[in-house]
Amino acid sequence: MSEQTQTQGTQGLSQPRRVVVVGAGMAGVQSAVALREQGFTGTVTLFGAEPHQPYDRPPLSKAVLLGKAEGSAFDVDFEALGIELLLGREVLGVRAGEHELDTPEGPVPYDALVLATGAEPIRLPGTEGVPGVHLLRTLDDTERLRPVLARQHDIVVVGAGWIGAEFATAAREAGCAVTVVEAADRPLAGALPAEVAAPMAAWYADSGASLRTHARVARVEPGAVVLDDGSRLPAGAVVVGIGARPATAWLAGSGIALGDHREVVADDHLRTSAADVYAVGDCASFPSGRYGRRLLVHHWDNALQGPRTVAANIIGETPAVYDPVPYFWSEQFGRFVQYVGHHQSADTTLWRGDPSGPAWTVCWLREGRLVALLAVGRPRDLAQGRRLVEAGTLMDAEALTDPSRPLKAATA
Ligand SMILES: Cc1cc2nc3c(=O)[nH]c(=O)nc-3n(C[C@H](O)[C@H](O)[C@H](O)COP(=O)(O)OP(=O)(O)OC[C@H]3O[C@@H](n4cnc5c(N)ncnc54)[C@H](O)[C@@H]3O)c2cc1C
Repeated sequence: MSEQTQTQGTQGLSQPRRVVVVGAGMAGVQSAVALREQGFTGTVTLFGAEPHQPYDRPPLSKAVLLGKAEGSAFDVDFEALGIELLLGREVLGVRAGEHELDTPEGPVPYDALVLATGAEPIRLPGTEGVPGVHLLRTLDDTERLRPVLARQHDIVVVGAGWIGAEFATAAREAGCAVTVVEAADRPLAGALPAEVAAPMAAWYADSGASLRTHARVARVEPGAVVLDDGSRLPAGAVVVGIGARPATAWLAGSGIALGDHREVVADDHLRTSAADVYAVGDCASFPSGRYGRRLLVHHWDNALQGPRTVAANIIGETPAVYDPVPYFWSEQFGRFVQYVGHHQSADTTLWRGDPSGPAWTVCWLREGRLVALLAVGRPRDLAQGRRLVEAGTLMDAEALTDPSRPLKAATA
């Protein structure tokens, strides 16, 4: 046994000496930084498959796409923090029983391992390698799309989810003709109930984009997208935003348990089924004590918060539990959309403000308590609502529907 693997007790008594983090996105970088912030003095090695200095993804569909920002590299001094950053280095596999990773340069031992390989976009079947068909996940994707916007093509966006809406927003701002095709009957069908998504459909038309619902792509031809009803949409470029799935193919055969969505199944301490292996961010699901179900969250705040729990559990002797109130935001069609909490179809939906106007909020109550909130252009509602959701506060339903009253004053 090597000297480095003698102290395997990250879930036991002693601290590990060598922590390896795989994936240099938000969750991986934050895990490495959190280890140092929490006083870890051993070796921290961070592997990233992409060649670029680690960067933040949300600006890729916003300021970076429009050329308003050059890049979105994290402001982290890895050298000063004593984090060994290995870029352009894709990890090939894990031999969990031996506490070793496989890399193209050979095996790498670890005492504790953090899986933070994020997610990869789902491709439109039949379009792999077709010129003019783009995804939007990486800095390279955004750099390929910037000249597409500058040429002001006819653009077809496949999928009216968060990414599709944000890309359509940027493309309209750049002066492109934009058609968004969506197989469901409304935008954000997988994320929001019909009555909440309904006003959002109008945002597309207001911005000059055409939204075609109940529309399935049959095939992509040079210069056109053909729908299954036979209609042909001119397309100088096609941008596919139909979701993302955890980037875990490299874990095949590792013995680390994966779930129904191919995500790493973590416990409430963000530990995986393998000893001394943790998982965090877009690649992992965790059981939410708060909501009584397993959550797979593909949002930035989860990749920021989870790493603190991972670092605490690698270093500490008292296990820290991860049980966040999920939060995310989107910037689309000139609106700032924010969501906090987690609602279910049985919850009571209450509106604050007119959904045809520029600013409104939807609240969800369960047994009188605020469990989730969607705020459009009302960041104060979000800030106050977040605290009320976290505390499980009983609300006065009538006061809550008056948008002129602060949300925090609408408690029962
Ligand atoms: C365009 C875009 C806009 C977004 N906007 C918002 C927003 O407005 N609000 C919001 O809440 N969320 C937003 N998100 C979601 C948010 O960015 C993600 O939830 C977050 O980036 C997840 O971080 P992560 O570190 O878990 O995964 P990732 O950011 O995917 O990072 C994982 C990294 O691991 C690397 N990797 C994968 N496999 C390996 C391997 N085998 N070896 C080494 N490295 C590997 C990948 O190359 C990648 O760099 C957006 C996402 C995108 C793509």
